[in-house]
Amino acid sequence: MDRVILFLGAPGSGKGTQSSWLAGQLGISNLSTGEMLRTEAKRNTVAGRKLRQVLASGALVADSLVCEAVEARLKRELPERGIILDGFPRTLKQAQCLDQILAGLRLPGPLVLHLDVSRERLMGRLTARRQCAVCGTIYNLLSRPSRSGDVCENDGGRLVQRDDDTEAVIQRRMTEFDLACAPLVEYYSEADYHRIDGELETAAVSAAILAIAGPGRKRAAA
Ligand code: AMP
Repeated sequence: MDRVILFLGAPGSGKGTQSSWLAGQLGISNLSTGEMLRTEAKRNTVAGRKLRQVLASGALVADSLVCEAVEARLKRELPERGIILDGFPRTLKQAQCLDQILAGLRLPGPLVLHLDVSRERLMGRLTARRQCAVCGTIYNLLSRPSRSGDVCENDGGRLVQRDDDTEAVIQRRMTEFDLACAPLVEYYSEADYHRIDGELETAAVSAAILAIAGPGRKRAAA
């Protein structure tokens, strides 16, 4: 697999869990733009403070800022063995920008995996979501609790709720996703696009993903 693989899906659809799992399976890196922006937002600078406000509101960060950061990362890593993008593109502009970056790097168009989950299921998942403050592993109080109780089973890190996983902010993030989703699906409809039932058990979703993106898959023409 020597391609960019992208996960499309609403907040809580399992993008983070499945993309880091797939990255491990394929031995390639996983770039979560949400994680990247949360790290930037911790900086005690004007830009960091501004970013914190945007993230806390559930709005999307400006296309130009996210595109520049993704472009820099792709150029630096030149993903000869492929790379997974989790949470990018989020808008049509970003999808067009990604195509330009890939064309510039002479890489084929992306493999698009869309995790489809109903709104009711998403709300339940997000309010119960917890994340290790040290390694970022994602748990869910209902469907995937930590075997070590209220700390991370990998490193004993504290399990925290993301600042933007409160109900009001979740609503805003869902609305942002709904607005952007249909145009993106339309944009990728002629491409290597796969809709996956994200309501299945985690292992069944992983199996469906591996069947599409696994190592046996043929290389697509550039
Ligand atoms: P996520 O971790 O993917 O749920 O993203 C968390 C937040 O980061 C989103 O609500 C946005 O504010 C921001 N964000 C992440 N990826 C993008 C993107 N591609 N474009 C704009 N904003 C983004």
